[in-house]
Amino acid sequence: MLIQLNQSISIEEKEKIEGVVAALGYKTTPVKTQVGEYVIGIGKKDFDIRQIGRLPGITDIHRVSDDYKLVSRKWKVKRTVIDLGDGVEIGNGSLSIMAGPCSIESEEQIEATIAHLIENKVSIMRGGVFKPRSSPYAFRGLGAEGLKLWASMARAAGIKIISEVMQVSQVEEMYDYVDVFQVGARNTQNFNLLDELGHIDKPVMIKRGISGTLEELLSSAEYVFSGGNERLILCERGIRTYEKASRNTMDVNAIPILKEKTHLPVIADPSHGVGLRQYVEPIALASIMAGADGIIYEIHQQPEKAFSDAQQTLDFSESQRLVERARKVFELRENF
Ligand code: PEP
Ligand code: MN
Repeated sequence: MLIQLNQSISIEEKEKIEGVVAALGYKTTPVKTQVGEYVIGIGKKDFDIRQIGRLPGITDIHRVSDDYKLVSRKWKVKRTVIDLGDGVEIGNGSLSIMAGPCSIESEEQIEATIAHLIENKVSIMRGGVFKPRSSPYAFRGLGAEGLKLWASMARAAGIKIISEVMQVSQVEEMYDYVDVFQVGARNTQNFNLLDELGHIDKPVMIKRGISGTLEELLSSAEYVFSGGNERLILCERGIRTYEKASRNTMDVNAIPILKEKTHLPVIADPSHGVGLRQYVEPIALASIMAGADGIIYEIHQQPEKAFSDAQQTLDFSESQRLVERARKVFELRENF
């Protein structure tokens, strides 16, 4: 059960509601976010909803049977829009495009990437400064210094940035510099990190775990929401299957399923989803057709020289073609 509280509710009214819900045999959890206040009731006992509905301080009561509740579309049919400021929004019914290198490498690379994004009217740049690498000997990112340089260049150009946060201590370190925190596939179930991201008011994009189910992804989002942060985005980035012809298997199914189950925006990452440059475009277009609110993909001015994920990185002309085609496919979808 999810109870939406009035904005003007008093402490006494809140305590009364929690008491009545608890007396019905439900475990209660109060949730306060940037947007609203809720009481989550977990329990199975059947009861007459009017026992609660008449209590002062309640806006609405919803029976949500899913394990995840706040991110469920069963109570909030209206879609969540993530406002990054300066007219940049995700999930507002337009196609969001985020592109950039796997890893931030140098000032020249940032400059070249920003110029490419501006030329193609792309307003969000991706890039990792703290990189989760399978091998400890691989390039692990430029760290906070790289982020500061990138952020100052991006801000000067009016570009928003999204970057991966790997651990709790980095939330504060990165806070002033990123517009969206990315939780990577290896950290989708880092519950301490999710708790910490629940306490901030910056948008968070959570990627699906490499072998994670959609239910697990939604539960991870529930962690952040129930911690107080409603500014959430989900990302399908492919899962590990028995297939070896591609790095991962892009689960295009996930897109319409997530769109039905949650009110949060859903972004597709075809770069990690398929892992091979020549298939990034078709998988991106398929994801848009399947209902994605946007795409995030990897680009580099010289992909073969990229410090990480070179094999799945597009060059700028491939990226330009993808942007053009993505917008065409999106138009087609919207005008069915
Ligand atoms: C990335 O975006 O570069 C990345 C490491 O992604 P994922 O967490 O999906 O592997
Ligand atoms: Mn990558």
